[in-house]
Amino acid sequence: AKIDMARFARFCKDMGFIYQSSEIYGGINGFWDYGPLGVELKRNIKEAWWHDMVRHPPVGPDGRDLRMVGLDCAIIMNPRVWEASGHVAGFSDLMVDCKECKGRFRADQIQDIPCPLKPSLMVGKYEKCQLTEPRAFNLMFQTYVGAVQSPENVAYLRPETAQGIFVNFKNVLDSSRLKLPFGIAQIGKAFRNEINPRNYTFRSREFEQMEIEFFCHPKDSMMWYEYWREVRKQWYVRLGLTSDKLRAREQSREELAHYSCGTTDIEYLFPFADEPQELEGVAHRGDFDLKAHAQHSGKDLSYFDEDGWNALLAERLAPFQQDKPRREEEKKRLEREEKPKFQFLPHVIEPSAGVDRFLLAVLCEAYTEDQVPDAKGNLESRTVMRFHPRLAPIKAAVFPLVNKDGMDEIAYKLYRELKAHFPVVYDHSGAIGRRYRRQDEAGTPFCITIDGETLQNSSVTIRDRDTLRQIRINLSEVRSWLADALRP
Ligand code: ATP
Repeated sequence: AKIDMARFARFCKDMGFIYQSSEIYGGINGFWDYGPLGVELKRNIKEAWWHDMVRHPPVGPDGRDLRMVGLDCAIIMNPRVWEASGHVAGFSDLMVDCKECKGRFRADQIQDIPCPLKPSLMVGKYEKCQLTEPRAFNLMFQTYVGAVQSPENVAYLRPETAQGIFVNFKNVLDSSRLKLPFGIAQIGKAFRNEINPRNYTFRSREFEQMEIEFFCHPKDSMMWYEYWREVRKQWYVRLGLTSDKLRAREQSREELAHYSCGTTDIEYLFPFADEPQELEGVAHRGDFDLKAHAQHSGKDLSYFDEDGWNALLAERLAPFQQDKPRREEEKKRLEREEKPKFQFLPHVIEPSAGVDRFLLAVLCEAYTEDQVPDAKGNLESRTVMRFHPRLAPIKAAVFPLVNKDGMDEIAYKLYRELKAHFPVVYDHSGAIGRRYRRQDEAGTPFCITIDGETLQNSSVTIRDRDTLRQIRINLSEVRSWLADALRP
């Protein structure tokens, strides 16, 4: 069944997943806050990505771990970065202004938007609506660095994290001595002054990205492009986007950026849309970015393939082992004619994902309304968030069945022990059924109950959120059981 977005947003607010930013002042369009459960979910998403892409990187086609390192760059960079990247000149939407209501709208969407003066009418159809000619509107947020608000002090909040990786390419190469192929990963905030923020958090003005720039030899770049497409799609499946709402779509020639040899959008069919929408773009960017920054900065950003060069030398000089003068002569010739071919700009594959968009997809995919039997066996409806255990904000809840006979002491002790290792909660208030319902709504995968039998034989029950099945295990085994259940 299709989710009613308004009801869903209310649920997310009530549960503490997502709030409107500055809500008590009427909010501010395009900005969102994450509540106590939302912030845990968001951290889990970022940690899963960092864990799976950087600390324990995917296995490459040769059966070895990819070489991946991280980076954390400033949000404000030298504005020349954005000239080189093309964002100052080109990062814009075509806009029209309404002369009457002063509203500003995307030129390709003026039919879809209610006029702010008369919401029953659509902009562009409003009989008195006077629109200006379309004009380019840059999506970068501007600010000034320092006390003087003059044009030479203009700076921008980054509209993507990627450029911080490109401008540090040489630094990372020099400090880490990495050899191609390797990837640099970054998670961080990005800002875009979107004209029409909409669809809940899907299109926001402040959001977070998780980006990888994977640098490789040009001859291998198509192979790596296909590799990353697959790895990134599978990552979403592994974290719970298992329905057919997830798809990878290769962009058509017309959609491709001029420098790209291929881009695949990993998309999700959100309840607010008729078509799947982009969660992540995996783009083959060639040497576009490094070339642009080399040109604009005047710095050499090329890579020297030392291993390739040494291999060639060894092979070509082998026949002259005994003849030292010929060997030297041949070496000089190779240095002149062959060595320059080992100095080149790497090609780049860029898997670029939005934290907030994945989080929204996770919420939508997890949100389920079903019916479960209550204590008396009657069916009652519940809302349950079927999060993957790795992403669930709370991993387990510990309950004493009743607050007597020492059950609460045992339960609290278990809670304290688990809390040192996992985010867990303790709840002893109200009927057990109500406590289960609360955890179902928070998406807690496991509820552990201390009951009469615990007092007899030290066993506890663990209830599974999705199957509702209960197993009994020994109190002393709960911690390792939970660790296994949560392992990536
Ligand atoms: P769209 O076409 O939806 O505007 P895009 O193609 O401009 O997205 P990219 O520049 O490829 O997006 O950015 C990479 C990722 O950053 C996107 O896949 C998305 O997950 C995220 N992202 C981009 N813009 C926004 C936004 N306004 N709000 C939330 N996430 C965003």
